[in-house]
Amino acid sequence: MKQNNELINRRSFLNLTGTGGIAAVTAVMGSALWSMQPKQAIAAPLAETLNPDAALKRLMDGNQRFMLQLGEHPDQSRARVKEVAQAQHPFATLLSCADSRVPPEILFDEGIGDLFDIRVAGNIVTPEVLGSLEYAVELLGTPLVMVLGHERCGAVTAAVQGQSLPGYIGSFVKAIKPAISKIEGELDDRVDQAVVANVQYQIQKLKQDSTILSQRLLDGKLKIVGGRYDLDTGEITLI
Ligand SMILES: [Zn+2]
Repeated sequence: MKQNNELINRRSFLNLTGTGGIAAVTAVMGSALWSMQPKQAIAAPLAETLNPDAALKRLMDGNQRFMLQLGEHPDQSRARVKEVAQAQHPFATLLSCADSRVPPEILFDEGIGDLFDIRVAGNIVTPEVLGSLEYAVELLGTPLVMVLGHERCGAVTAAVQGQSLPGYIGSFVKAIKPAISKIEGELDDRVDQAVVANVQYQIQKLKQDSTILSQRLLDGKLKIVGGRYDLDTGEITLI
């Protein structure tokens, strides 16, 4: 018990440090610390047992169940809350829009401790988002990252329309603009194209900007994919 408390305290310290601090501490301590978990806390951590392809299959199978109204609603019991109380091992990391119609756990028919969600309007890569992604991949061992855009995204529409927005509302427009410079056609068509182009651009950006993620990709320990959520059907297609 005393050992468990020490582990928890160490983990709490690491959770409170910045990304740079975490990386530095990890470099010194190696991965051993992260594999030391209270025995009763984890049955079979999916992040450790699933390779990137298997993680993607699990994610997409869950979306099929959701779409066909065959949801199993896994990992939402009181027992699951207890199981993951001391440590998390999410098998997939989602960078998705903050849109209220796009909640990852529901769309992928998953539960508590399964997905590491980063949600921001327009699913854009900012330094804080990149730090969160690196945390999930490097320290939690997530084998899969999906950047998920969606149909009729308000943030993407604002970027396509190029309107000026009050306060900080337009901050994400700036981050989407470079993705849509070559988009042409009618507004609806342009928004559809821009949603896909934005996902591709954000993936390119996070690969370019993060040596942690690119190294994991090179080592075959990580897969980064893009997805588009159809608001009408509930289906997610890979981009
Ligand atoms: Zn959106």
